[in-house]
Order: sequence, then structure tokens, then C-alpha cells
Amino acid sequence: MKSDSLLMHKRDIRDLSYPELVTFLESLGQEKYRAGQVFDWIYKKGVEDFEAMLNLPQPLKEKLKEDFSFQALTMIQRNVAADQTTKFLFTLYDQQRIETVLIPAKDRATICVSTQAGCKFHCQFCASGIGGWDRNLTCAEIVSQILFVKKQCADGQPLSNIVFMGVGEPLDNYDALIKAIRLINSVEGTHLGARRITISTCGLVPQIKKLAKENIQVELAVSLHGSNNDARNVLMPVNKKYPVPDLIEACKEYIQTTNRQITFEYILIKGLTCTQQAAEELGQLLAGMTCKLNLIPYNPVAEFAHETPSKMEMLLFHDKLTRLGLHATVRMPRGRDAAAACGQLRHSHI
Ligand code: SAH
Repeated sequence: MKSDSLLMHKRDIRDLSYPELVTFLESLGQEKYRAGQVFDWIYKKGVEDFEAMLNLPQPLKEKLKEDFSFQALTMIQRNVAADQTTKFLFTLYDQQRIETVLIPAKDRATICVSTQAGCKFHCQFCASGIGGWDRNLTCAEIVSQILFVKKQCADGQPLSNIVFMGVGEPLDNYDALIKAIRLINSVEGTHLGARRITISTCGLVPQIKKLAKENIQVELAVSLHGSNNDARNVLMPVNKKYPVPDLIEACKEYIQTTNRQITFEYILIKGLTCTQQAAEELGQLLAGMTCKLNLIPYNPVAEFAHETPSKMEMLLFHDKLTRLGLHATVRMPRGRDAAAACGQLRHSHI
């Protein structure tokens, strides 16, 4: 038992960036190309065992085993929905639970990744915040979700997109998130194009400004969900700290610095968010911005009393926005029978 618990605390090697691994190996007197070999096994071949790294000398394998582990995640449940959306529930070394979703399409697959165990922001429609926040995920815990789920993709179904839309607020775990993105994006790592990676945020203004200067070509999605301060305060308490005008100003700055568009996510809740007034306010708020609007039908969570609008109401709201000159699309939910809305599966286990 004692050796088990010691093993638990051994650092997962997927916490190391490529330069960090090079430095570590050089400190052992190893050649730099060994780092490339290790990365190749981990990120290209998906190996989770130093012994299986056949082109490494035995003493180096032993040393790596001594210092590092592959223990970030243990899968404990897998729910497959009728549309093949698959939700994985994992435990971490400290018994925390996180969830990851695989959303397959005809010839590609998207992975929805968690960045925190729980969430601090208490959006009043989201299951992730109900149990509060426990801790940030490490870089290895973030990257391992992708490596694990990628292996589950059927043949001929390449991983095409990664969306940081699972449990937690990605920009509240900024350093681990950026490190994980660089591992996924780099030539030495998974080498997935940055434009195929989307970060979704509840609107943390300082981090949006910081991200603008990061020089990575990721997609940014901002959860707006309210067309003015009063409406947004009710649904997203984070608005009291970063109100709508400050958020929009940060988004404009982001668009200008990066020359990239922003996607605004906007939840459709019956009688609340899809009114004529909301449409007009959104039209004014987003006028002239390089952005699109993703309308997300509310996915029912037992703890909240909201209702999903009828299809007709959603289409009418979409139509109003289009007439006001906004580029809006309605995103139809996937995997409802796999409890695939943010945090639903995790929440059902705590
Ligand atoms: N913390 C990030 C990631 C959250 S999940 C953020 O706030 O953006 C990604 C999206 O799903 C967010 O826009 C979030 O507001 C939305 N979402 C959460 N719960 C939902 C629900 N029950 N129905 C519909 N959308 C939901």
C-alpha cells in the first residue's frame, strides 16, 4: 500500500514541455534526440509505459520509471449516447472526478476537455458549478484526456477538433491550459493545428487580454448569455466582476490584436434570453464586431427551473438576429442520453 501511495505522487511525464524534457535528459548526460523519441512514443504512438519505448536504452527507461509515471487518469465509466457521443468519467490520483466527451461525426471527431475539478463561477444553468470548485487540473491531466480519448476514436476518424468546454473555466487555470495547448499543438507533440482548438470562457477580462498576446492561433468562444448587465448578472455572477461593457471592450481588443474572430455563445432559455429586447440589444452590442453568435438551446439540469424554448421560438429568435445583421447559428445538442451537458455526469457522482 505504501509503495502504491508513493507512486501516486510521482509526477506524470505529460506535465513536462518538450524543452523541459530536453533539459531533464541533458542533466542525465543524455543526447537531445532522446527527448524526441520519448515524445514520439507518448504523443504520436499513445504509449503509456516506459518499458514499451523500444528504442531507449534500458538504464534510461529505468531512470524515467524512477522519476515519472503515467498515472494522470483512471477511467471509471463510459456512457455512449444513441448518436454515438461518448462521455468518459475519470478519477485522478486524489480521487477527484472529471469528465471528457468524444463527439464523433462522419469522418472526424471532436473532444470536449475539462480543465478544473468543479468550477468557481456558478452560472445559473450549468451543472459544473453546483458542487463548487475543488482544484485546477495539471497539464498532464488535461493532455491525458485528449490522448486517452483519441485512442478510442474509430479507424478513419481522425481527431479534428478540441474544445475546452468541459468542466471548469479554462482561463482560470491559465498556465496549465496554455502548456497543454502547446503540447497538443507542437510538432514534437500531438501536432494538431491551433485553429482546431477552441477555448471557451465565461468572460475573464484580464485573461482574455493576456491570451491575445500569447501568439497562438486558437479559437476563442466567449459565453455571453445575457444582452445587458441586469440579464447577465442573473445568469452569470461573474458579470458583477467583469460587466458586459468591459467584456465587450476586451473582446474588441482581442480581435484587433489577433486579427481573429470571436464566437459568442448565447444560451436559449424559454421566456428569459430569447426576447425581442434581447435580440435588439445583442444587435447593438455586437454591431460591427468580427464575430459570430452560437445559440445554444438550454440543456435541462435538474437543479435549475429553466425550460428549453420550442423549436419555433428558437428559429424566430435566430431570424431576428439575422435581420439585425448578426451571423448566428443554432447549435443542436448532442449526447443528451449520455448526460453530455457540462458537468452532468461528474455531478451525478458527487
Ligand atoms: N467555463 C467555460 C466553459 C463552459 S462549457 C465557459 O463558461 O464558457 C461550454 C458552454 O456550455 C458554455 O457556453 C456554457 O455556458 C454552456 N453550458 C453550460 N451548461 C449548459 C446547459 N445546461 N445548457 C446549455 N449550455 C450550457
